[in-house]
Amino acid sequence: MKKTIATVTAVVAAMFIFLTVVVTAILYHGVYEDNVRATLSEELDILSHLYETGNDIREIGGRNGRLTIINPDGSVEYDSEAQYSVMENHKERKEVKEAFLKGRGSDERQSDTLSIKQIYEAVLLSDGNVLRLSKNASTVIAFFSMISGPVVSLVVILLILVVFIASKASDYIVAPINALDLDNPEENNVYDEISPLLLKIARQKNEVREEIADKERTRKEFEFIISTLSEGLVVLGRGGRILSFNKSAATLLEEKIEDDKPFLAYLKSADSKELVLSALNGKDGETTFKVSSKILELSAYSSRSGGAVVLMRDITEKCERERMRKEFTANVSHELKTPITTIMGFSELLENPEIEREKVTDFASEINKEALRLRDIVGDIIELSSLDEGYKGENEEINVRNTVETEIKKLEHKADDNGVSVENYVSSSLIIIGIPKVFSEVISNLLDNAIRYNKKGGWVKVESKEMDGKVEISVSDNGIGIPKESIERVFERFYRVDKSRSRESGGTGLGLSIVKNGMERMGGEVRVESTQGEGSVFTLTFPLNH
Ligand code: ADP
Repeated sequence: MKKTIATVTAVVAAMFIFLTVVVTAILYHGVYEDNVRATLSEELDILSHLYETGNDIREIGGRNGRLTIINPDGSVEYDSEAQYSVMENHKERKEVKEAFLKGRGSDERQSDTLSIKQIYEAVLLSDGNVLRLSKNASTVIAFFSMISGPVVSLVVILLILVVFIASKASDYIVAPINALDLDNPEENNVYDEISPLLLKIARQKNEVREEIADKERTRKEFEFIISTLSEGLVVLGRGGRILSFNKSAATLLEEKIEDDKPFLAYLKSADSKELVLSALNGKDGETTFKVSSKILELSAYSSRSGGAVVLMRDITEKCERERMRKEFTANVSHELKTPITTIMGFSELLENPEIEREKVTDFASEINKEALRLRDIVGDIIELSSLDEGYKGENEEINVRNTVETEIKKLEHKADDNGVSVENYVSSSLIIIGIPKVFSEVISNLLDNAIRYNKKGGWVKVESKEMDGKVEISVSDNGIGIPKESIERVFERFYRVDKSRSRESGGTGLGLSIVKNGMERMGGEVRVESTQGEGSVFTLTFPLNH
């Protein structure tokens, strides 16, 4: 800006100086020429007067110019500068011709050199001669060349001065602009002319500040949302460079992910690598792969900017549930098939009209046994499904001793048949919070098992104790016990240690699954300790302030 101001000022000043010099020179030259003419005319008048009064003007005539006396026939009688005897006839010269005609004439003629111009004036004398006086005058060009030296020096000096002053002036003008506080545009008090600009800057600054704050807020919200996601999220730029990722992504991949690294380096499975590459090339897709014992589902979506967004979620539990559901369905059909086939077999036999009377009774009792079995299995399946779907019963206070007593009563027959004694040692004041129907079912299943998997003369005890902020209710027996390798599996659906013993004794293989699910539903736990041949202890734990 300073440079522009100085340059413009210098150019304008140079133009003005040049124009001033030219105009002044032209005007001055005009005055100078008028002066030469006036002097010439005056001197001609004086010389003609002297001539008319009989003076010899030849002596003085040539001092201030060139004096010529021309005879009426045009021949030159006298010339102060040339050899007049050989001079050509002057009759046709413009000033001479005019003088002969009108008494006075004038003319100007350029000499051979461009720098000199000759001014002529002639007057008709009373004796018929013409008196002519001429003077040299410098032309404008000559005038200019004459003054060019000083003028150029003057122009140079003026220009230096102008550039210096312009530079100082621009410093002076620009200094307040340079000192503007653009962080607080409205607080500057400089030139009125730039106030609107400062106001505009202030307005725009506010808008930009608000926009940045808005963007920052949105960014923080986005970061908060993705940081709380259980799904792993990775945003990729062109070429698969990681632009951002959340903690879950690193946890799921079990890797220490770093920004700006290629995401493919963190993927071990070829399928997932290929899928991410496809997404980077504009094709979305989904795949599953394993990381340690986890099964991850990876969805990759291509983004408009040539990158991709990768979402990962842990579907191990879902897969496990799916596997268990399939296994359960297969088991259910298998379990139902056996009694149904038996019922069908016996009923076909009954169709025979020649069948003996005693056999009819036997077959009918077999059919009844299998039908009861079917009822038990279906009942247990319904019970289990209702627990799986989140049994709707409300939590209530339960008197444990009373519930145990009721369930023992229901199984009294079975216990007697098996020669097993059942004792209730639960404290009468023990109250827990649970769903009465579910708790009864849990106790009933544990007592039923303890009676069935027992020996003649064996015992079953139900005890309770309160400790470390929790209540433990145990159902123990001195029955056949569970082999070590099966202990972990007894809570699985349809798992039995000894299939035929379970079936014989009316088991469905679902009792302990119902116990486990029921306890989970009430916020408690169940565990088992057992020694084969010595007996088992099933312990239910409830939080005390539950
Ligand atoms: P079931 O209907 O076969 O009894 P459960 O789910 O109740 O099915 O039990 C699973 C298996 O665990 C049983 O088949 C049995 O082998 C074993 N079991 C359960 N309770 C006892 C116990 N008190 N003593 C010994 N074995 C037991």
